[in-house]
Amino acid sequence: MESITLVDRTRLNHHEPAVLWFTGLSGSGKSTIANAVEYRLYQEFHAHTFLLDGDIIRKGLNSDLDFSDAGRKENIRRIAEVTRLFYEAGLILLTTFISPFRAERDYARSLLPDRRFVEIFVSCPFEVCESRDPKGLYRKARSGLIKDFTGLGSAYETPDRPEIRLETATQRVENCSDEVIAYLLKRQIITK
Ligand code: ADP
Repeated sequence: MESITLVDRTRLNHHEPAVLWFTGLSGSGKSTIANAVEYRLYQEFHAHTFLLDGDIIRKGLNSDLDFSDAGRKENIRRIAEVTRLFYEAGLILLTTFISPFRAERDYARSLLPDRRFVEIFVSCPFEVCESRDPKGLYRKARSGLIKDFTGLGSAYETPDRPEIRLETATQRVENCSDEVIAYLLKRQIITK
């Protein structure tokens, strides 16, 4: 019996499949930038995209997991598997998980072919993230309501060699999304 491959799926699209893996502290700007990038991919490049948001996964697929190191590892393991499925479906997937541990990010990378996993380090000083506190999580963590909060009691391991590094304390959202789009064009994941 005939079956279709990723090559067949890709032929239907105007782009190559890829995973844009945003990582960074809470409040660093992952969701804001991923949204801006996804909108441009849709509007300007007619790309088939999907955005996997950390909070939504935590409430649904992974609602049985806690924020201990073991819980975080299992969280990312499942996410990495789901990520691969979206990749196999031919989409450009954007993920916005804090993903604080190098080993877990590397695991997600290891499931995909070379150059198809784009690690985007959304870099922002802890103090700036805390002052933004868009979800009120830093306040809760400071008052002891959240244990094991990344940056306060739980580590964030800075990426060694991310494909893209964005500095959101000094770069505007538009500049950050420009940088991501330029990278995707350069790698011919999208074309004009
Ligand atoms: P995260 O998804 O990393 O937890 P969010 O995107 O939810 O972070 O929140 C980031 C906050 O910082 C938003 O309120 C956003 O408007 C603000 N912000 C200010 N400057 C930037 C920037 N350059 N890039 C991204 N977000 C920024």
